[in-house]
Amino acid sequence: MKIVTLAGGIGGARFLRGLRRARPDADITVIGNTGDDISLFGLRVCPDLDTVMYTLGGGINEEQGWGRAAETFTVKEELLAYGVGPNWFGLGDRDFATHIVRTQMLEAGYPLSAVTEALCDRWKPGVRLIPMTDDQVETHVVVDDPERGRRAIHFQEWWVRLRASLPARSIAAVGAEDAKPAPGVLEALEEADAVLFPPSNPVVSIGTILAVPGIREAVAAKTVVGVSPIIGGAPVRGMADACLTAIGVETSARAVAAHYGADLLDGWLVDEADADVADKGPEGIAVRARPLLMSDADATAAIARAALDLAQELA
Ligand code: GDP
Ligand code: CA
Repeated sequence: MKIVTLAGGIGGARFLRGLRRARPDADITVIGNTGDDISLFGLRVCPDLDTVMYTLGGGINEEQGWGRAAETFTVKEELLAYGVGPNWFGLGDRDFATHIVRTQMLEAGYPLSAVTEALCDRWKPGVRLIPMTDDQVETHVVVDDPERGRRAIHFQEWWVRLRASLPARSIAAVGAEDAKPAPGVLEALEEADAVLFPPSNPVVSIGTILAVPGIREAVAAKTVVGVSPIIGGAPVRGMADACLTAIGVETSARAVAAHYGADLLDGWLVDEADADVADKGPEGIAVRARPLLMSDADATAAIARAALDLAQELA
């Protein structure tokens, strides 16, 4: 069986671990979000690709959900001793090595997709991980800054430095309309038996991937089943509600499904707390209620299995 998933960071990576456990024999391709990528200290950092790679490769900091296990922060402290920041973005020593290798390869002329493949040679995530595009796409957030007025800032500055404390006026994937899907993305979608949306951020992760011309159409042509990141009217973790509000979508499992739309989604898994959505969901989308908390490996594998079962039923 050939499965394609679109994925952001933590929610995507954890779901993928469950999917791999549920179907160890499946051929899984992951199309990763690169809209959160940022250059820091002259290095290219790809938080979502790395979270997927570290999580599936056994190098993740489990409690935190991102970054490396057994991490130290000597380089960051030394940079700060020179007065060189930013200090709001946590890059550990082990993580720095990944970004050095990536930047070196990018500067030598390799596209991000080839660099990601090379990094995965070490981590062996058990899936094929492809960035959505080799072109630069950056998610920017327009905020009303009390000191500097209305301005657009990088997604990471809004998310990590400001913890989304300033309301987003709008969110844009800058460069997306001119981006091309990375090599292998459209081919994998073409060959897929099913496409799954993990419980990733619908706006700045899944939404950004779908904004790359050609991807949305290729996904829509398939049987698509999504897992709701919203349970009981709130994100399970993180601040996805702040992103949904910015695009005028209510923070509910039903509204997120309606936002994707029946032209894209065939099936939608909601938590048992949202069972009412299963009784009366958006037209044209088959909704099932299941326990959706990825509390441990078994629970997560059961969610992945439920998504695949629904995809099979709808195919
Ligand atoms: P990010 O890049 O780190 O923000 O990760 P994602 O783009 O994958 O988005 C995280 C999303 O996953 C958030 O909207 C969470 O609400 C959702 N999420 C996290 N843990 C769980 C869980 O156990 N179950 C479900 N259903 N959603 C989850
Ligand atoms: Ca992300």
